[in-house]
Amino acid sequence: MVGCTGPVGDEDSAASSQELYGLGPNARPWGNTSGAVVPVCWTNPDDRIDLQIKVREILRETWESYANVSFTGPDPSQPFGGAWIACSETPARHVAIQFSTATDYRGNTAGGGSQGAVVTLISDRALGVNYQRFRYEVIHEMGHALGFNHEMQRSDNWTSGSAAQCPGDGTDSGNYAEAKGGINLTPSYDPNSIMNYCNPAGFAQDLSLGDIAGVRAAYGRRDVKGVVYALNASKQLQWYRHDGRTNGSFAWGYGSGNVVGTGWDVKQLFAGSASDGVLYTVDAGNQLHWYRNSGRVGGAFRWEPGSGSVVGYGWNFKTLFSGGDGIIYGITPVVPATPATGIGPDYAAHPASGGELKWYRHDGRQDGSFAWAPRSGSTVGTGWGGFKQVFSGGDGVIYAITPATPATPRTGIGATYAGHPASGGELKWYRHIGRADGTFTWAPGSGAVVGTGWGSFEKVFSGGDGVIYTVASNGELKWYRHDGRTNGTFTWAPGSGSVVGTGWTMPQLVGDD
Ligand SMILES: [Zn+2]
Repeated sequence: MVGCTGPVGDEDSAASSQELYGLGPNARPWGNTSGAVVPVCWTNPDDRIDLQIKVREILRETWESYANVSFTGPDPSQPFGGAWIACSETPARHVAIQFSTATDYRGNTAGGGSQGAVVTLISDRALGVNYQRFRYEVIHEMGHALGFNHEMQRSDNWTSGSAAQCPGDGTDSGNYAEAKGGINLTPSYDPNSIMNYCNPAGFAQDLSLGDIAGVRAAYGRRDVKGVVYALNASKQLQWYRHDGRTNGSFAWGYGSGNVVGTGWDVKQLFAGSASDGVLYTVDAGNQLHWYRNSGRVGGAFRWEPGSGSVVGYGWNFKTLFSGGDGIIYGITPVVPATPATGIGPDYAAHPASGGELKWYRHDGRQDGSFAWAPRSGSTVGTGWGGFKQVFSGGDGVIYAITPATPATPRTGIGATYAGHPASGGELKWYRHIGRADGTFTWAPGSGAVVGTGWGSFEKVFSGGDGVIYTVASNGELKWYRHDGRTNGTFTWAPGSGSVVGTGWTMPQLVGDD
């Protein structure tokens, strides 16, 4: 294990029958890019019920939450296919799971021939001191069962017989050695992969962003939506999941309200690629920090290595919000015009400035590295300083709310006798066509009014896919869904305006982008 700080790893006697990184000619895929249904059973269904429950929970939080993969029992009419039953009663191809009682057991996936893989997991203190190892084994071994091989065996980790990372120490070489051929599901070797023995995280507890890209390439994409983070007055980050997100019902995921971070003393908080758990903060010194909550799906206090890294300086913006896929928009602070002052050559006025919409794309969002796309910092809009609130609608859609101006009584004499009706509070729709590369290009109809009466909300934030949440001064959380979000029409889902929560008085809130 020289040079390796990661887990001891596992033994994969199935390696020879599984094609590298997925769906090669020798592997038998469980599905295709439209999804996969994987029947799972227990070798002994009466053994370790506590661990059985945990296995299903871990799979739901990982492989199933990112890709269109469903590990199921035999009854398609039940959620998750009903109970997983004995393998002896599951004649079709399946993944069998069993538990070893050996001390510090090293997980194993064996090829089961026509029956499918047999996965053996640690049970020794698996919900105690060995929990991290257990969770890692569940994710890693079921990765093998899905058809994925070890990341460090990829050919692009090897040059002339030497591994760039994770060579192994000569023993157990079958699990380390270069494996040629197969299908690379992602463009480059990913040291953070759950399938890499030398993962810098040790026993990694979730998929890396590279793993997520890979399993989505094989089986199609799935997102767990509706996650909302709230930064409360005690500087704690709280997690919520609005399971009624699609139709505006008052349904929240188990664990909603969990504290997943403490000591978040930040000026601004916003999402970045929220479906992958990436969050950004700006501190009092205008430094931009990167975080990734690997406990995002179930509300766990678990963060990826590198969370908190500084990835930018001088981030002085009035408003910041995610455009999805690493894209960040910032609105520069408005500086009012000043009258001409000074004497002689110094006599000068300053025009108003600021209110520019700036575009960035954080290419280091996978691991929190300091890498930005070309054109980052480009101005893609002007005149954005006067809005009360601006937020993303996903896919380049941006919403802006004009400030509400109360009605004024009639004043003046004769022809100038006039009052002004209340105005503002309009919800305006924009779509940034130049979203992918940061060019100043906008869809026709951008600026259309798609809602009125939006001027009094304390907070407004995106839930993704046209879902918008508002918080009133009394802490009521309301749900809306803009069905005209693609083209900017004034069309809203039934139930828009439903109350889906109370007591939402936390200072900062972010949802999906
Ligand atoms: Zn393995």
